[in-house]
Amino acid sequence: MLSISRAQAQQLDQEDSLKNFRQEFHIPQKDGKDCIYFCGNSLGLQPKQTQHYIQRELDTWQAEAVEGHFRGERPWMYYHKLFKKSLAQLVGAKEEEVVAMNNLTSNLHFLLVSFYRPTSTRFKILMDGGAFPSDQYAIESQVKFHAASGGFDWKGAIVEVFPREGETYLRTEDILATIEKHKEQLALVMMGGVQYYTGQFFDLKAITEKAHAVGALAGFDLAHAIGNLPMQLHDWDVDFATWCSYKYLNSGPGGISGIFVHEKYALDPKLPRFAGWWGYEEAKRFKMQKGFIPMYGADGWQHSNVNILSAAAHLASLEIFDRAGIQQLRKKSVQLTAFAEKLVMEVAGRYPQLQHISPREPEARGAQLSLVVKAYGKLVFDYLSEQGVIADWREPEVIRIAPIPLYNTFEEVFDFALLLEYGLKKFA
Ligand SMILES: *Cc1c(COP(=O)(O)O)cnc(C)c1O
Repeated sequence: MLSISRAQAQQLDQEDSLKNFRQEFHIPQKDGKDCIYFCGNSLGLQPKQTQHYIQRELDTWQAEAVEGHFRGERPWMYYHKLFKKSLAQLVGAKEEEVVAMNNLTSNLHFLLVSFYRPTSTRFKILMDGGAFPSDQYAIESQVKFHAASGGFDWKGAIVEVFPREGETYLRTEDILATIEKHKEQLALVMMGGVQYYTGQFFDLKAITEKAHAVGALAGFDLAHAIGNLPMQLHDWDVDFATWCSYKYLNSGPGGISGIFVHEKYALDPKLPRFAGWWGYEEAKRFKMQKGFIPMYGADGWQHSNVNILSAAAHLASLEIFDRAGIQQLRKKSVQLTAFAEKLVMEVAGRYPQLQHISPREPEARGAQLSLVVKAYGKLVFDYLSEQGVIADWREPEVIRIAPIPLYNTFEEVFDFALLLEYGLKKFA
C-alpha cells in the first residue's frame, strides 16, 4: 500500500495548470488503453499538430515546387529563423546565438573544429565519465585527429571525472578540482548538460567559470537538458553547445539539432570553421561568389539548406513549448519527479533491491529518475512493459523513467509505483 491514494494523485492532476497539454499528443496504446509513457527522454511523443505542419510543406512542394523556397506562408529559404525565438528562450540565449541545423553528433564535430584548438602544451579535454557513447567516440576521434600533427599523445588527452567510490553521481567540487588539477594542459571542458544515465544536471555556470579561470573553454551537449529544464547559456558565458530535438523537444526521430555559439564569437574572424553555403551572407548567397563570408552569430556555422520536413515537425513542437513556457514546465516537472521519487522510495523501503541513483536535490536533476533493481531488474522491467509501461532499460540493472510535464500525469506516476511494487513482489 502506498501512503498516497489514487484520489490524491487525481487531485494533483486536477490542480495542474498544464494538464490540458496532454490532449495535444498522441499517446501510444496497449490493449485499447493509454500506455504509461515514461520514455520522453529517449523519444518524445508526437504532437497531434505535427502531421499538419509536415503536410503543409508537402503541399507547398506539390504546388509550388522550387518556388517554395521564396513563396508561401513559410518560405523554406528562411525557415530556420522561425525557431530562433523559441530556442533562445529554451537555452537562455540571444536569438543570434542559436540556430537549428544538422544532427547532434555532426554539430559536435563542427563546433569542435572551432573550439577545440589543441597545442602541444594545451590539448586535454575534460568529460563526465561514462558520457553518452556518441560523445565519447566524437571526442576520441577529435583528439586522435589532432594528436599526430599537434605534437601530443592522444592517450591521456581525455580526462574523465567519475563519482566517488560508493556514490552514483558527480560532485561539482570534484569536477572543479579536476579542472584545477589539469589547468596547465586543459583546452576544453566538454560535458553533458544533463547526464543521460543518471539524470544529473551539472552546474554549468560554475563549471564554465572554472574552465575560463584556467584558460580553457566550456561546451555542453544538451541532448537531455533542452526542453527539460531552463538554462541561461548566455549569462553563464558558456562558449558553445549543441542538442537534439527528438527527446524532450518532441520533434520526431532523428529530428533537427541545434547549436549555441556565444555572442562573443559572433564576428571573430580568427576562429577556423568548416563552412557551407547556408552559413554564407544571406543577401549574397545566391550570387555564388568565391570567398566565404560568414553570417553574424551562430548562423555563420550553418552548412546546408534545411531539411524542411524535419523542421516542420520541430516547429509544431516548439509552438507548444512557447505556449506552455519552460519555467512553468520546470515547475511541474520538479513536482512530478519529486512525487515519483517519494513513491519509489516508499516501495524501496519494502524492497531494498530497489534504489535510485539520480541526485536527491531537485535542482541537481531534470525529469528523469534512474532506478536500480538488483538481481532481477530485467524481469521487473519486462513485467512493467507487459503492463503498458514504456520506460528504458540499461544493462545490467537500470530502469530509467522520465515523467514529462507536457503529457504525463500524477496518476500515471501513482500507477507506475503500484506496478513497480507488484513486479518486485512477483519475482522476489
Ligand atoms: C541522444 C544523445 C546523442 C545522440 O546523437 P545523435 O547525433 O542525435 O544521434 C548524443 N549525445 C547525447 C548526450 C545524447 O543523449
